[in-house]
Amino acid sequence: MRLRFVEGAKELIQAHPKYIINNVDNKMIDFRKLFNNNFPIHIEIGMGKGKFIYELAKKYSNINYVGIEKFDSAIVKALDKVIENPLKNLMLVRMDAIYLKYIFKEHSIDRIYLNFSDPWPKARHEKRRLTNHNFLEVYKNLVKPLSELHFKTDNPDLFNYSVEEIRNYPMKIIYLTGDLNKSGYKDNITTEFEEKFIKQGKLIYKLTAIFKEA
Ligand code: SAH
Repeated sequence: MRLRFVEGAKELIQAHPKYIINNVDNKMIDFRKLFNNNFPIHIEIGMGKGKFIYELAKKYSNINYVGIEKFDSAIVKALDKVIENPLKNLMLVRMDAIYLKYIFKEHSIDRIYLNFSDPWPKARHEKRRLTNHNFLEVYKNLVKPLSELHFKTDNPDLFNYSVEEIRNYPMKIIYLTGDLNKSGYKDNITTEFEEKFIKQGKLIYKLTAIFKEA
């Protein structure tokens, strides 16, 4: 491991503004200008060490990817990958998802990925779950109509909760499985957490939903 300490991580982040935005002041970011093209924008919220979004960006060069993560210690692992092999369609943003609406323009995003989001099992932490209806409301204002939300988890409680939240919202579930690996779903790209859970023999749940106009 290159960097174990968050102190070193902060310096590494500051040294690479071309690849990572350390969004401490929640300024609006013009991603069109930043990527310098009109390709669709897909974001992953809580990308951790970035395996998933890095592989997507490598595979689909005509889509722009934004990887969002709140912890320095995780995002520097993604930054290491980018420094080693830069991709011009991938930007990392270190920030908490609660500030998303301050940095993305309304209806500027074409797809959202949530992978193995923290389950926050206690009822009093429900609002922190990234599929809570308050977050869905934020996402809806940031995406273009009919954009897709892709969500994967190993946690059945979080999955059931998310299905309920989505069903009670102007969204439509267009794909759902309780066992992704047996489902025949094509082109799945695994995340770091997913690899770990598959090795432990856990089931992977996935859903895809579209945002409808309310
Ligand atoms: N998607 C990765 C990591 C999953 S762990 C994978 O599948 O391997 C969940 C990650 O989401 C953690 O790295 C955590 O720091 C991040 N996260 C949780 N809540 C967040 C929030 N509100 N804003 C940004 N990142 C968040």
